[in-house]
Amino acid sequence: MAKNLVIIGGGAAGPSVAAEAKRGDPSLNITIVEQGEHVSYAA
Ligand SMILES: Cc1cc2nc3c(=O)[nH]c(=O)nc-3n(C[C@H](O)[C@H](O)[C@H](O)COP(=O)(O)OP(=O)(O)OC[C@H]3O[C@@H](n4cnc5c(N)ncnc54)[C@H](O)[C@@H]3O)c2cc1C
Repeated sequence: MAKNLVIIGGGAAGPSVAAEAKRGDPSLNITIVEQGEHVSYAA
């Protein structure tokens, strides 16, 4: 069964959490919801 993770906010923390979660479980389906126009890509 697919595991889904929804992260609210695409600033510094959101993509960092996504990257770390994906490292821990590469099979995760991750969706980041950002209210603004831009998402941080540093992570
Ligand atoms: C004036 C100022 C200067 C700073 N300078 C530096 C610096 O030079 N170097 C440094 O390392 N740090 C700096 N910081 C700190 C840094 O900006 C924060 O620590 C960091 O951005 C926090 O990241 P965050 O992801 O927790 O929050 P945020 O960056 O605020 O990201 C949260 C995101 O969630 C989104 N969001 C909120 N509500 C919703 C919603 N309901 N639905 C969808 N999306 C939503 C927002 O649009 C935002 O993109 C500065 C902070 C300030 C205020």
